[in-house]
Amino acid sequence: MSAARSSDAVRAGILITGTEVLTGIISDRNGPWLSQRLREIGVDASMIQVVGDRPDDLLAALRFMAAEGMALIVTSGGLGPTADDLTTEVVARFTGREMLLDARLESRIAEILKPLMSRWPNLDPDAILASNRKQALIPRGSTVLDPIGTAPGLVVPPLSGTRPTVVVLPGPPKELQPMWEMARRTEAFGAAVAGATTYTNSILRLFGIPESEIAETLRVAESEGIPLEQLEITTCLRRGEIEVATRYEPPAEGVYRELVEFIARRHPDTLFSRDGSTVDEQVASVLVGSGRTVAVAESESGGLMSGRLTERPGSSAYFLGGVVVYSNEAKIASADVDPELIGRFGAVSTEVAEALADGAASRFGASIGIGITGVAGPDGGSDEKPVGFVCFSVSASDGNRITRSTRLPGGRSDVRERSTTVAMHLLRRLLSGEGSIAASEIRAGVRAAGRRSS
Ligand code: ATP
Ligand code: MG
Repeated sequence: MSAARSSDAVRAGILITGTEVLTGIISDRNGPWLSQRLREIGVDASMIQVVGDRPDDLLAALRFMAAEGMALIVTSGGLGPTADDLTTEVVARFTGREMLLDARLESRIAEILKPLMSRWPNLDPDAILASNRKQALIPRGSTVLDPIGTAPGLVVPPLSGTRPTVVVLPGPPKELQPMWEMARRTEAFGAAVAGATTYTNSILRLFGIPESEIAETLRVAESEGIPLEQLEITTCLRRGEIEVATRYEPPAEGVYRELVEFIARRHPDTLFSRDGSTVDEQVASVLVGSGRTVAVAESESGGLMSGRLTERPGSSAYFLGGVVVYSNEAKIASADVDPELIGRFGAVSTEVAEALADGAASRFGASIGIGITGVAGPDGGSDEKPVGFVCFSVSASDGNRITRSTRLPGGRSDVRERSTTVAMHLLRRLLSGEGSIAASEIRAGVRAAGRRSS
């Protein structure tokens, strides 16, 4: 859901170029990234358009965005030396600016190419310089952003009146991202977004609650007099958790605080992050420097839990290792699970999850063991233990232990990924000493995780 939006907002359009993006050969990483960056600086990214490498389509898209009143257009791609790279030319036509050779830029590009040419001595230096001279042709009056690769970016102001400023960036994300920061610091950019409101962006995270309950809480908050129209609230599901992202203008700070307190009162056990920190960050911050260590033995999640625990830099301070024990034999041989347990309760059982946690801890000499075993499907389920049925145990050397079984929704990859979210939350609970997570909470979290984001 979403509420207030200031009417005088500075609006921007994002124009992604490249036939390989249009045809789906590669998926667009620049549009969403730029959209977030624009939002952060108080500019409303109103649309993202994708066009192939055809000048007419590019021009039409620029004109459409201008007609829709965009103050800023950010383009991605088409700045290379080859013939299909034609964004600069089209932007020159669009803004009514003639193309001219920037001598400083030309020698800068030549400098960048020197080491390349010595590495590839067979390349024809003249041909390279000629094709890169093309990259030194820019619309008159534009601000040059120095190349990160070989392609320079540009900030092209409107010739007159109300037409938008165009920020021209290269396609490779590794070049586009640092160049965006350069573009932001230019005077021309500042002029284009002058008057943009500064917003505060805040995030709350909840686990173990269906999204409908948060929607209900927001309705009640409003009916009890909290002026939510001053906030722009978006709720979505991520990795099985609910994220409540709120954007507001500084004067609405008090309203936001009121809302946070209201949510905290209604959902004391499920609101686990008020500052936007993720469960992974919270677990890491408790573990670093604590002297406690973690090991994993996992079956159905196939290494994803170990992968998740190693995602963060610095995780080597507490994560010792993990084993993937898929077959019964592997559970016995590599995680010291008693074969008799498997025979009595089945490989997917809370008993085996506990044995896996203990086995992991003792094998790796860790103070905390995590065991995960489940049915990810599509085959292998039974009436009693259907696809999505997963058992977890997190056990500490001090005797604390949390063991749960649950039924996770979704397909194979959803079940596997959500297993890691549940396990992270059990670990967080164990570390925070909050004690055991109620089965009903997991079920609610699971219900929430099964719904689509709004
Ligand atoms: P180059 O000098 O590398 O040709 P360019 O500015 O001309 O840069 P493109 O030719 O449009 O950019 O794209 C080059 C490569 O950058 C693409 O093959 C792709 O790998 C990557 N790329 C381009 N656009 C995107 C995008 N929107 N999202 C993710 N990757 C992209
Ligand atoms: Mg290119």
